[in-house]
Amino acid sequence: MSIFCRIDDKHLPLYRVLWVAATPHFCGEPDCQCEGRYEVALEGGESVWANSKEQSNLMEMIEEWQNDDERGGGFEEPE
Ligand SMILES: [Zn+2]
Repeated sequence: MSIFCRIDDKHLPLYRVLWVAATPHFCGEPDCQCEGRYEVALEGGESVWANSKEQSNLMEMIEEWQNDDERGGGFEEPE
């Protein structure tokens, strides 16, 4: 399987994802570009914004990726 997941206009390596929002973003700002999107936090303090389809796809891919890791899991980064 691919180690990359497409979010918005980017291909994210799964091992860079720290966490995925469980609920859509809402801040009340009238010109917010991320309203209704799910925040995906990345190493290095960056984050990207996924739509609900991308968010569930990303969660699935991370679970599959962890299940494929026969060494017992853990978020160890590949060299
Ligand atoms: Zn906002």
